[in-house]
Amino acid sequence: MKYNRILLKLSGEALMGEQQYGIDAVRLMQYAEEIKAVAATGTQVAVVIGGGNIFRGVQAAAFGLDRVQGDYMGMLATVINSMALQSALEKLDVSTRLLSGLTIQQVCEPYLRRRALRHLEKGRVVIFGAGIGSPYFTTDSAASLRAIEIEADVVLKGTRVDGIYTADPEKDPTAVRYPEITFDEVMAKNLNVMDMTAFTLCKENNLPIIVFDMNKTGNLQRLIEGDTIGTLVTMKGPSTVQNPGDSELQPIL
Ligand code: UDP
Repeated sequence: MKYNRILLKLSGEALMGEQQYGIDAVRLMQYAEEIKAVAATGTQVAVVIGGGNIFRGVQAAAFGLDRVQGDYMGMLATVINSMALQSALEKLDVSTRLLSGLTIQQVCEPYLRRRALRHLEKGRVVIFGAGIGSPYFTTDSAASLRAIEIEADVVLKGTRVDGIYTADPEKDPTAVRYPEITFDEVMAKNLNVMDMTAFTLCKENNLPIIVFDMNKTGNLQRLIEGDTIGTLVTMKGPSTVQNPGDSELQPIL
């Protein structure tokens, strides 16, 4: 396997599936199956899941409510999603632990780095709930921070797009995907990978990010096996683009 320890970031929105709100059971089980398959290879798996399918702090501000209160509501939303994922994994006989950045002792363990490492070493899938546990952050930042703390080899950002594009592929038909790109180029080109706090944490700690399509069955496992799918963001390396239907990579001049 290419990686010994990974941190998988899943967005809350992806959990909605075709729904407008909440958790889609089919999507949830699909994610659990994918995680199970990877954990079965011996790769240690940590997961951070967002809460955007339930609540985001900025929504509270839009209602005229307190932003900080809204952020805590968002963090609690991530705990709900984390609990759902934990149950889905347990249904598939995968051993899991949910560690939370907010203390909710009846349902999760408090986040302790050493405890997280111990669980991972024992082969348990570790889910980090409640983000960092502080307002004004996102679950992308939590994913970067926890990945650095547990010395994960890579952050795998599962989205509904299959990588980073030169422009928004849903708006611009000429947009092409980067199989590889550097942190500096992402910043120079103002490409949207993660929020800046999350992105900078990865850059400063030399932690590679792979953006990939999590909704395509088998993609997660392919990544672990070393297949080049999605977009890899690293410190250095050639930046290339791949035109649709074209197997040749072209250097960016
Ligand atoms: N949040 C926070 N601190 C954190 C993580 C999350 O305040 O460390 C709040 C924030 O309001 C955020 C919400 O929780 O909008 C849900 O997380 P996020 O928007 O990252 O979820 P995603 O977009 O991945 O579904």
